[in-house]
Amino acid sequence: MVHRPIYLDCHATTPVDPRVLEAMLPLFTEQFGNPASLTHAYGWEAEAAVTRSRQTIAEALNASPEEIVFTSGATEANNLAIKGIAEACFSRGRHIITVQTEHSAVLDPCQYLASLGFEITYLPVQPDGLVNLDALDKAFRDDTVLVSVMAANNEIGVLQPLAEIGARCRDRQVFFHSDAAQAIGKIPLDVQGMQLDLVSLTAHKVYGPKGIGALYVRRRPRVPLAAQLHGGGHERGLRSGTLYPPQIVGFAKAVELGLAELEAERDRLIALRQHLWQGLQPLPGLHLNGHATQRLPNNLNVSFERVDGQALLLGLRGTVALSSGAACSTASTAPSHVLKSLGRTDALAYASLRFGLGRFTTAAEIDQVVAGVTTTVQALRQAAE
Ligand SMILES: *Cc1c(COP(=O)(O)O)cnc(C)c1O
Repeated sequence: MVHRPIYLDCHATTPVDPRVLEAMLPLFTEQFGNPASLTHAYGWEAEAAVTRSRQTIAEALNASPEEIVFTSGATEANNLAIKGIAEACFSRGRHIITVQTEHSAVLDPCQYLASLGFEITYLPVQPDGLVNLDALDKAFRDDTVLVSVMAANNEIGVLQPLAEIGARCRDRQVFFHSDAAQAIGKIPLDVQGMQLDLVSLTAHKVYGPKGIGALYVRRRPRVPLAAQLHGGGHERGLRSGTLYPPQIVGFAKAVELGLAELEAERDRLIALRQHLWQGLQPLPGLHLNGHATQRLPNNLNVSFERVDGQALLLGLRGTVALSSGAACSTASTAPSHVLKSLGRTDALAYASLRFGLGRFTTAAEIDQVVAGVTTTVQALRQAAE
């Protein structure tokens, strides 16, 4: 097999866990029925598998199964949540609050709504990446219909204070949405305790397959939502289209495994991340991006002084697979909007590495990455002198 670099890009995607694949396989070839076919056993079998999966995903959020709407992933779930609320609450208000450091799958639907006449407030973050709750308090208006704040940031891993935000939204009767694509199966989520009304999920960041996710939609008190895909009326009319049982079963298995192993995996990943951070310390001019402890266990984001970001990634290409920011924005040449929101200079925002450790990362791999990063940074600095 060709030599491949060590994979530390788990915020972009993760491999499917073999246990997940095993759970999915029978749904392709044997239990292949359409879960909407109500007249025969093929349909019932597929329907039963979907029902069990819906139950598992609901339990993971402390929700009930009727509140889970399957989608193609978190991008679609965010679009359904944000545009769906905007459309359903059109006559009540046209103001939405979100945060500068959100994923483009939240920022872009907001920008689209702005082009239709909605007003969007983009809250700044503190230098540690956390939302300023006082700024949120001041941003609410009489016509605010939605607050959208992600659970865990995909670049710097920072965990936003969802319960505090949820309490503020409930007080003002404003709907609260969270993009939890990076959080599900990694940190505890509780739609009751956090007073969440809408939550976007995806499977492929948590060792499940790509192309499947869900939106949690609160039933009590009911959250009004306008469907964005119309057709056969699947998912209680909120998302038409034939369900995809293999992906749904894989999604549920991935979430189940994530929760079962959450604490052990958290401790293991924090230790590995600490090993990585300690290993890099002999290099001068390092900056940790994002809060030191209120972040995903598997995330480390570091900026390097006096290094060209492009050259750094190029130099590391054979050693380690990672990126300096979101996978979807690496095509653009602008510095990360997340790091800029923390107040980083363009140079430091460019010269950053996002380390996304995962379930299959080992201490030996971290040692190799430390050695590779150290020699690359030193060589680039020497060449620039
Ligand atoms: C990956 C990601 C998305 C997009 O999810 P897809 O399922 O790939 O559409 C949205 N938000 C965040 C925070 C993500 O990390």
